[in-house]
Amino acid sequence: MLPASSSVNPRSSAAPLPCESAGTVAGSSDWQTELNTAIRDPHHLCHVLRLPTSWANAAVRASRHVPLLVPWSYLSRIRVGDPGDPLLRQILPIDEELREVRGFTADPVGDTSSKRTAGLLQKYSGRALMITAGACAVHCRFCFRRHFAYQEALPADASGEFALAEIAADTSLEEIVLSGGDPFVLPDDRLAKLLVQLSQVPHIKRVRIHTRLPIMIPQRVTGELLDGLSGLRLDPVVVVHCNHPSELDGHVRTALVSLVARGILVFNQSVLLRGVNDDFATLAALSRRLLECRVVPYYLHQLDRVAGAAHFEVPVERGRQLIRQLRDALPGYAVPRYVRENAGEASKTPLA
Ligand SMILES: *Cc1c(COP(=O)(O)O)cnc(C)c1O
Ligand code: SF4
Repeated sequence: MLPASSSVNPRSSAAPLPCESAGTVAGSSDWQTELNTAIRDPHHLCHVLRLPTSWANAAVRASRHVPLLVPWSYLSRIRVGDPGDPLLRQILPIDEELREVRGFTADPVGDTSSKRTAGLLQKYSGRALMITAGACAVHCRFCFRRHFAYQEALPADASGEFALAEIAADTSLEEIVLSGGDPFVLPDDRLAKLLVQLSQVPHIKRVRIHTRLPIMIPQRVTGELLDGLSGLRLDPVVVVHCNHPSELDGHVRTALVSLVARGILVFNQSVLLRGVNDDFATLAALSRRLLECRVVPYYLHQLDRVAGAAHFEVPVERGRQLIRQLRDALPGYAVPRYVRENAGEASKTPLA
């Protein structure tokens, strides 16, 4: 467990981060610069956030399997000097990651066995998932693909010919989910080419993009990106990933609203995470803030039991209780579906 926060500094009274004086806060640099200048050094991170050196040392040890990665635009939403910050907890490696816990494995959701061809997974009827990129804007410590062999899963040829040929040959598919990694780390021209190729397959009706980039680096939602997404024959759906209302600052809201303004359906999925969002007030505030951003809360995922993430697990009974409280407090469309992914099942399994 993280130590309890000794002093909670509301962001308004917290000293500005060095990145702010360096002019790299959200909105002031382009998204590729944000990606390239993301923090990778735990000592740098702890220095900026005024956390003890012992935390940096632990983070160095714990990042052996999955290195630290966090963009400045997200960092600027973390409270300085608060070891219990829910955004910090999602990105800072801690010793618990090294603990082996029975039941927590490298491939908890059966990704390896659902591979159809290089770069294409299918678990559910009518929709297949394309691994379009091996990288993300951030390394979430609880990620279910922590141990995923991207090099084996990515299309053997960079253009994804095999996956596209498989999609074209299977008329039972009507939706392609672009996932990764994060598809929005691809440059606009590569993404646009892929979208055009998919739109040339007559039986594909929708393209869905699973991405955390509009949350991590809202500058990613550029005019070109919006043009590329909304000028298609395919109906575009964007599913973002946000776990806490503090992730949704004004820049993120602007980015999300601009997607919706182009007629794109935008949903959110969250993971239920101990010490991040496992309380009613946080989940209710998250749903309300998502609605302000014109985003529909879609899924609340029970944590996939991936090795290294056991300390994030919340008991299912607790999750059910939280959902009941949300139902009592919010409109039905603001209550996410609480689900778990069980390897081999025909859909996500509802838990509430
Ligand atoms: C979760 C998931 C989907 C999407 O499922 P929905 O219930 O339609 O959101 C599709 N393919 C794979 C492999 C998935 O894991
Ligand atoms: S953005 Fe998504 S895929 Fe990438 S590390 Fe986070 S949870 Fe995993």
